[in-house]
Amino acid sequence: MTSTATSTDMTGTVEPRLRVPFVIAHAGESAPQSLSFVNKPFSGLRLVYDNPRRGDEVGRVLRARVLNNRRGEPQWKLLNTARQWRCMEKLLCQVCGRVATDPKTGRIPWITTATAFREIPGDADSGLTSAPPTCAACIPESLSMCPRLHVSSAVWTVARREPAAILADMYSPDLNGRPVHTGERNFFVGLDEPDLLRYALATQLVVRIEDMQPAPHLAGTP
Ligand SMILES: [Zn+2]
Repeated sequence: MTSTATSTDMTGTVEPRLRVPFVIAHAGESAPQSLSFVNKPFSGLRLVYDNPRRGDEVGRVLRARVLNNRRGEPQWKLLNTARQWRCMEKLLCQVCGRVATDPKTGRIPWITTATAFREIPGDADSGLTSAPPTCAACIPESLSMCPRLHVSSAVWTVARREPAAILADMYSPDLNGRPVHTGERNFFVGLDEPDLLRYALATQLVVRIEDMQPAPHLAGTP
């Protein structure tokens, strides 16, 4: 599912290059987003695709359409919505795309980073994150990328995860009722906020991870 590559530097030394993580978006995966607002009898104004398809809506969430072919250059700062969502739902490793759960313990290894983690006040054992799990085998490689990305990180195992929110592009209707992007990206909307969900195009699923236990032994350092 992932590819490795080597590069030759100026001295002719062959160096292994980092794998492109499963969850990273590629340049050839963008899809046209033709949106409108409809006025539904009971729920009121709601953002929809012009030509709705199965899979656009997950519960009350409108999910951004993307291709899933891993073609083109990696977009290191962007996650592919389809793969990010699948990793969260199926508990797949964000680096290799394989099952992340430890078959022996049933617990899920998880790296949290300051940029993709939110504490829950009054609940020290849980948190909210948009970063999918990372399997034990991929954790050392993944941690080695954190300093390059200038993010701090911690390693945990967790007992379970529950969908809790989305990160979304937000839209509002113009005078003619057509959707206009408000400029808000990665806007946090709880799944219990229907009045915001109706204006949101989700790009990532946020889950609540529960029973977090520190797992420094998985980091591969003594
Ligand atoms: Zn992995």
